[in-house]
Amino acid sequence: MARQSILIVGMGGLGVPAAAALVRGGAERLGLVDPDPVELSNLARQVIYGAASLGRLKAAAAAQRLREARPGLSVEAYPVALDRTNAADLIARYDFVIDATDDPAAKFLINDSCLEAGRPFVYAGVLGLSGQAMTVLPGRTACLRCLFEEAPDPAEIASCREAGIIGPAAAVIGEIEAAEALRWLSGGVPELAGKILTYDGSASGRMRVLAVSARAGCGCGAARRVEAAAAFTPARNQ
Ligand SMILES: [Zn+2]
Repeated sequence: MARQSILIVGMGGLGVPAAAALVRGGAERLGLVDPDPVELSNLARQVIYGAASLGRLKAAAAAQRLREARPGLSVEAYPVALDRTNAADLIARYDFVIDATDDPAAKFLINDSCLEAGRPFVYAGVLGLSGQAMTVLPGRTACLRCLFEEAPDPAEIASCREAGIIGPAAAVIGEIEAAEALRWLSGGVPELAGKILTYDGSASGRMRVLAVSARAGCGCGAARRVEAAAAFTPARNQ
């Protein structure tokens, strides 16, 4: 089955640059999920929304702008918050999912729903001037729960919200997410599958990529698969 569609959850600081990069990169079908309207504070950093978008729902306004940018592009707008009642259904309609949310609970919901549906996704987190990204191939590479056993506590979440998503770091990470999705659509293995990229915008854009091991005991089963693969590796020099 051809891989051709991408769901972007969140059309803010991460989702806007990701969507623009996907359209430039030749993606054919996108789904955009975001429950919020465009606010004045979005206009400067999220360049896709013009003054005419003020007060409109982000998902619908962005879908219209992307269709104008590339006629023939198929874009579906979902002006809803991803939650337990709709996540499985929305995710099953697409081949790859981009986490562009600013909410840790939503990130874990995306993780769990994608594992359940067998859909690969790219996770991203941005805090102040730094950010990180990791692609998860369900049951094959480490998932979010391999890294963090539980969602962070509410105080930590509040501090993330206060620090906010700063434009430049989010733009870099959003474009990296799009590149991961495009690699998957082209039939390749995303560069960050089983690896986490960290970006430090305060140290002149320093990027590091580290391998992430699947955690034994995580429900995603990726660690069991690694063990099985090791057990079947033929001995060399025989
Ligand atoms: Zn896991």
